[in-house]
Amino acid sequence: MESIKFTPRPCFAQTGTTIFTVMSQMAVECGAVNLSQGFPDFQAEPALFDALHRHLLAGRNQYAPMAGVPELRQAIADKVAALYGPRFDVDREVTVTAGATQALFTAIAAFVRPGDEVLVFEPVYDSYVPAIETVGGKAVFASLRYPDYRPDWAQVAQLITAKTRMVIVNSPHNPTGSLLTAVDLDKLAELLRGTDIVVLSDEVYEHIVFDGESHRSLCAHPELARRTLVVSSFGKTYHITGWKIAYVVGPDALMAEFRKVHQFNVFTVHTPSQLALAEYMQDASRHLRLATFYQQKRDFFRAILAATPFDLLPCRGTYFQLARYDRISDLPDRAFAEWLTRNVGVAVIPVSVFNHDGRDDKVVRFCFAKQEATLLAAVARLAQLT
Ligand code: PMP
Ligand code: GLN
Repeated sequence: MESIKFTPRPCFAQTGTTIFTVMSQMAVECGAVNLSQGFPDFQAEPALFDALHRHLLAGRNQYAPMAGVPELRQAIADKVAALYGPRFDVDREVTVTAGATQALFTAIAAFVRPGDEVLVFEPVYDSYVPAIETVGGKAVFASLRYPDYRPDWAQVAQLITAKTRMVIVNSPHNPTGSLLTAVDLDKLAELLRGTDIVVLSDEVYEHIVFDGESHRSLCAHPELARRTLVVSSFGKTYHITGWKIAYVVGPDALMAEFRKVHQFNVFTVHTPSQLALAEYMQDASRHLRLATFYQQKRDFFRAILAATPFDLLPCRGTYFQLARYDRISDLPDRAFAEWLTRNVGVAVIPVSVFNHDGRDDKVVRFCFAKQEATLLAAVARLAQLT
């Protein structure tokens, strides 16, 4: 249809379609094995679907309370207390959201105003910067430098100014699989001491941490917890990315601001799914075993990739594996990802798209949240590259 003539707002002039949609579409068009966008290709447990079905039939099909059904908020508060220590108030400090993407957007919209600066670490998950710019904020980029993707706290210290309103951290980190350590959190706390900077902590992969390391939630750090909203997502934890249900926990003063936006953004989230999750969460082994489950997949995938010319980077958490491809091609990573999808039949994500200046370390991201048969089918194709 022909549209009126309009000029895109400056913040959107450069914004294209998210790489996850681009690569997944290309995978379908080319009949490629899709290891690009991060989602499992296996089912969640029947117990979760049974619970959902029961709540649907029981007539729990009307609006849930704005913050989420009390049963789920209670289950979340209990889980967080058991794992990380703090006991968030079920009525005032826990909110259920329509996925982590909405939680992140809503938190940014609640705190950031035109001219405010938001510090992000790049490679940066692709939804943060467009959200910051939509509300008139300015993203300021700290780097997690290839190949170990560690934060440089001296650089961060220089980037924090009187205009900094928020810092966004993500650990376990997508796309690099790196983790923040206890020392990192102390450094961050020290740099923010005496300011009113809010921290937004994207912890959607909190249960996917490998090799016996533990997840360092910012809410377990008493000093940081006072200024932090923590976001997690049931999509990652229970293999249901399509349900789009996540949550936020944080001190009541911050949560009150969050809810001012949340109530007019989505108001509330799918009721029967929330009730099903509240029930399913009661068995803690369901999230606690996730690390072992994905570590097996990581180790299997890394072992079979040894038959290909990719060079693997460390993967300490998440369900993503980074790999260098300089023994295969000189192409820039985006062109290489397209070539691999079209010509070899395996779709991956180029990591440079997560850098604002396009910095290209010739690294691509594979998602290994797949059945062994899928991973084997992908590697059978990649092995032709030797
Ligand atoms: N943050 C990160 C780091 C992610 O990887 C993702 C999705 N994979 C999200 C947020 C969004 O999660 P959701 O699907 O619950 O919106
Ligand atoms: N977070 C997922 C990834 O990193 C994709 C989510 C999305 O498609 N928006 O692949």
